[in-house]
Amino acid sequence: MAPKDTMDKLVALCLNRGFVYPSSEIYGGIAGFWDYGPLGCEMRNEVKAAWWQRMVRDREDVVGLDTSIIANPQTWVASGHVENFHDPMVDCRQCKRRFRADQVDDDDRCKASEDGRHDLTEPKQFNLMLKTRIGASDDTAIDAYLRAETCQSIFLDFKRAMQSARKKPPFGIAQIGKAFRNEITPRNFTFRSREFEQMELEFFCPPDQADDWFEHFRERRWQWHLDMGVDPEKIRWHEHTGDELAHYCQRAYDIEFEFPFGWHEFEGIHHRGDHDLTAHSNHSGKDQAYTDPETKERYVPYVIETSVGVDRTMLVLLCNGYTEDEVAGEKRTLLKLSPRVAPVKVAVLPLSKKIAEPAERIAADLRRRFNTAFDVTGNIGRRYRRQDEIGTPYCVTYDFDSSEDDSVTVRDRDTTKQERISISALPAYLSEKVLGY
Ligand code: ATP
Repeated sequence: MAPKDTMDKLVALCLNRGFVYPSSEIYGGIAGFWDYGPLGCEMRNEVKAAWWQRMVRDREDVVGLDTSIIANPQTWVASGHVENFHDPMVDCRQCKRRFRADQVDDDDRCKASEDGRHDLTEPKQFNLMLKTRIGASDDTAIDAYLRAETCQSIFLDFKRAMQSARKKPPFGIAQIGKAFRNEITPRNFTFRSREFEQMELEFFCPPDQADDWFEHFRERRWQWHLDMGVDPEKIRWHEHTGDELAHYCQRAYDIEFEFPFGWHEFEGIHHRGDHDLTAHSNHSGKDQAYTDPETKERYVPYVIETSVGVDRTMLVLLCNGYTEDEVAGEKRTLLKLSPRVAPVKVAVLPLSKKIAEPAERIAADLRRRFNTAFDVTGNIGRRYRRQDEIGTPYCVTYDFDSSEDDSVTVRDRDTTKQERISISALPAYLSEKVLGY
């Protein structure tokens, strides 16, 4: 299938089945903003919970924060965003469209010129921070920014979080939260949005340990994506070298995914040295250095960062899972989502409306453990297809023998194989499959 077709079909599936909708659609939408529908919102919550489990709860050396979206604007002066967070912008003099200078594709034709080529202006620097005003009256209101990344407030809270959680380096602070960037050309569905969510870890360590922690987190983050079901053939490392390396980074690697529209970054692992804590120490006048109580050594901790977008992870998982195959000579579309992130874990399907009641009781019981659907309408084949299309890994069919043998049939989404399981063993059986315990 041509990549564009795959993307068009995936976007249609997301819209029709309730994963992602354009924001404020009845007013014509607004570029770069998206709403997650009933299934999208379930899946997002699962992605975030899986990340939080792995990066925070599974570890003794990481704590979490949930900081405000708007911080004192000095934060963004100290971080360098006010001065440096720019993208080069160009305009086409003919068709008047605007582009990010490094993202004008050769195959993007100008509709107003005869040869189809854009007549581009010189690049102008455009700041990506979204501004707002805070305060009740015009003369006292101040300009503030919606955060462009979640990590800066982790740096601001470094000392408080460390002391209140009774931690000392090496330890990390993690956060999941919204970030905003006034992207010049939001595009490729949710890939480049103006409002998005990040899952970030800032790991603070003694300078001489930074290289080892950098490797540790590279390995851990790669493994997480494999555990989420991403095809290892579709991800690769990209190391930043030369001019690509941001001024605050000593080393940086992206994890890229092969989207239908090409290889692109969806996670960055950054060795930020002492750049951030030093910048905030200097700018605020509040020293962020740490003194080891045992050795009395005083140093500014180095930071290893892992930064991944919730929305890009969703898009990776959706693109990775989108599959078309044939079952018994019939075409079907399925989303091969890992059970950990699938929005619906199990669907209970009574073979007939007449036996809906006992099947409903099974669904009610399973709901206490996972998101469970109950569907009684249409023939069973069609009901299986509906669940395949939204990535439900297991369907439980209650049939006319079920009341006799106290058993149901469990069907696997990918293989379509069916297994007979006793109703009393079903919750534990599905927990093992879906949650791994
Ligand atoms: P890009 O080069 O694509 O603009 P970036 O290098 O600026 O991304 P980072 O600042 O390293 O991205 O942000 C970390 C992660 O946050 C990215 O890997 C991505 O998953 C997510 N992210 C960044 N910008 C956006 C955006 N506009 N829309 C959706 N997710 C984003």
